[in-house]
Amino acid sequence: SNAGTLLEISNLTVSFGAVRALKGVTLSVGHGEVVALLGSNGAGKTTTLRTVSGLTRPSSGAVTFEGTSILGLTPEKIVKLGISQSPEGRRLFGGLSVADNLRLGASTRSDAHQVAADLDNMFTLFPIIKQRMSQLAGTLSGGEQQQVALARALMASPRLLLLDEPSLGVAPLLVRHIFEALRELKRRGMTMLLVEQNTALALDLADRAYVLRNGQVVLTDEASDLRVGDRVAQAYLGAS
Ligand code: ATP
Repeated sequence: SNAGTLLEISNLTVSFGAVRALKGVTLSVGHGEVVALLGSNGAGKTTTLRTVSGLTRPSSGAVTFEGTSILGLTPEKIVKLGISQSPEGRRLFGGLSVADNLRLGASTRSDAHQVAADLDNMFTLFPIIKQRMSQLAGTLSGGEQQQVALARALMASPRLLLLDEPSLGVAPLLVRHIFEALRELKRRGMTMLLVEQNTALALDLADRAYVLRNGQVVLTDEASDLRVGDRVAQAYLGAS
């Protein structure tokens, strides 16, 4: 692997009973890079992220972070190493306050001083959060919950942020706001692997992209080269 690679996934296969969700997926994410993972429903995008996070066990293949295998490590250990996921459907603790949800995001850390500074940072990135700190997370709108989920993932102080459908269930105005925040994170050098159904939004933010179909990578290229023409749409549909 080259020195610029942060995450490397090689030949990953994952099965759920008779369902082969991933059939030999290989992809990499470089330091400071934003990589989009595209594909239709059931293509294997969420499974890929969950395997990196240690939530799903693959049947074969390799996952390395900074050159070290992370396969078989617990999700908590993987967070401690610097990989944090903002999950699909947000999965906040609805009965807990926004403040408590953010605190839980930082629970693997011991640098209290820096945690407080990072919380201030979240208020800058997502101003709505500051006003809602004492509100129960379950009572927030979809877009507000998505922002809290992103902030919670960031409170782990990751070096790799895994994003599963940040636009899902979010009103268009807030989607724009969320992607502006992601763009700001990118400017600050955050490395991201982004699963997103909205191809245009994803390619606008990403440096590179992979298209999955039926558990396999069917197309990969620079985002700028994928923005023109219909190669991505054709790859989704199986015409490539
Ligand atoms: P979506 O956008 O719909 O989430 P996806 O590309 O993220 O799609 P995955 O969620 O990774 O796709 O699912 C890939 C395949 O694996 C699908 O056929 C799905 O039904 C199956 N699958 C995923 N998780 C499980 C599970 N826990 N048990 C059984 N099958 C599963």
